[in-house]
Amino acid sequence: MKETYLGVDVSLLTYEGIISDLENRIQREEQSTIIAVNPEKIITAQKDSAVKKLINNATYQIADGVGVLLASKLKGGNLKSRVTGVDMMATLLAFAANKQHPVYFYGAKEETVKLAIENIQKEHPSIPVAGYTNGYDKDEAALVERIQASGAKILFVALGSPKQELWIERNMDKLSNVKVFQGVGGSFDVFSGTVKRAPAIFRKLGLEWLYRLISSPSRLKRQLNLPIFLFRVLKEKNNK
Ligand code: UDP
Repeated sequence: MKETYLGVDVSLLTYEGIISDLENRIQREEQSTIIAVNPEKIITAQKDSAVKKLINNATYQIADGVGVLLASKLKGGNLKSRVTGVDMMATLLAFAANKQHPVYFYGAKEETVKLAIENIQKEHPSIPVAGYTNGYDKDEAALVERIQASGAKILFVALGSPKQELWIERNMDKLSNVKVFQGVGGSFDVFSGTVKRAPAIFRKLGLEWLYRLISSPSRLKRQLNLPIFLFRVLKEKNNK
């Protein structure tokens, strides 16, 4: 259930599809990784084969950006909707509360990660929080031991990309108790309320990029990846 754009895999599963697949994998004691894919990352992957490998080795490459959905539509692909990193995290939090899977939060500033957990606990009072660490902690080996000993089954890593994905790749063998890893970028900032999501109307129309551009014009350079990506995908012959 994947499509490939410029050599990068994208999963066709919905939120529900990923959760039900994950349940089976957890039962089989398999580890899974979730990575958000957007035009910016696919362009980086074209220049950097290590990044490409990192993305393609993940269990689920979710179509975070509207750009990937557009690409699928332009090429007659089967991707039906986006699966955003922040909504995937929200779905996993509900799953964790429901199944009582302990969750560990690693990343962002101390105040941010604390506030994010407070808000998450307001929404899911029964969620088991195994622990948290801010993203500026320097002792990686000690942190890995702490997470492994915490009993966490789900780990969110919020260090930005590709730092968080490299961290997961480097440490997942040592974190055998953790079954689900998601690199979530700025999502703790969203859950903490420090960063506001785009208003619903922008989200509904798939125009979050426009909202972000208006609120912070310095993102223009990053966003130029979207037309470059679409142009290259259109030139590409085969996506299957
Ligand atoms: N961050 C961190 N440690 C670092 C660098 C970044 O914890 O060494 C955090 C930062 O505080 C922010 C998140 O990583 O919460 C980066 O979010 P951003 O939106 O830049 O990530 P993206 O989703 O764009 O990759």
